[in-house]
Amino acid sequence: MSLDAGVIAVQGDVSEHADAIRRAAAAHGETAEVTEIRQSGVVPDCDLLCMPGGESSAISRLLQSEGIAPEIRSHVADGKPILATCAGLIVAAADAGDDRVENLELVDVTVQRNAFGRQKDSFEAPLDVTGLGDPFPAVFIRAPLIGDVGEAEVLAAWDGRPVAVRDGPVVGTSFHPELTPDDRIHGLAFFGD
Ligand code: GLN
Repeated sequence: MSLDAGVIAVQGDVSEHADAIRRAAAAHGETAEVTEIRQSGVVPDCDLLCMPGGESSAISRLLQSEGIAPEIRSHVADGKPILATCAGLIVAAADAGDDRVENLELVDVTVQRNAFGRQKDSFEAPLDVTGLGDPFPAVFIRAPLIGDVGEAEVLAAWDGRPVAVRDGPVVGTSFHPELTPDDRIHGLAFFGD
């Protein structure tokens, strides 16, 4: 039976996540049917979700105006997995310290937007991630800094700073795992390894 996967597609890099979900599913002997989510009523049918990078204020605004935000909260309350990357993590966090972002409070961390610098400061780094064997090639683009980590578990750090966390069914990364051919972060988020 195929898994129903959803990628929040109000804004941000959607097709890359859809491809990574399909590859990670195949690597775990599953298939995934991926739906791009732009309106309410779709999330309740999804087994797993991705919330991509992009611009967190725009994503937050659309999740609220389209009525998708409460559906994402229910998805997590039901224990179903979600991978929130970069701007997605900013929206999923407990607090981003920015009133243009309405935090969904799905991951018990605070974040600071753009703390790793501007577009030109983007970089790639090999990361040791709990649960993965070889280092993961992590791409950082205007990445948020994870500040206070409450109940969440730190899965990876770069330069002494947390950059990947897990809080129950939610995995959050300040980098972009969808921008490399390596689908192991999606595998970790959705299949546990
Ligand atoms: N800087 C963006 C924000 O604050 C996030 C960047 C990204 O997702 N690559 O929303």
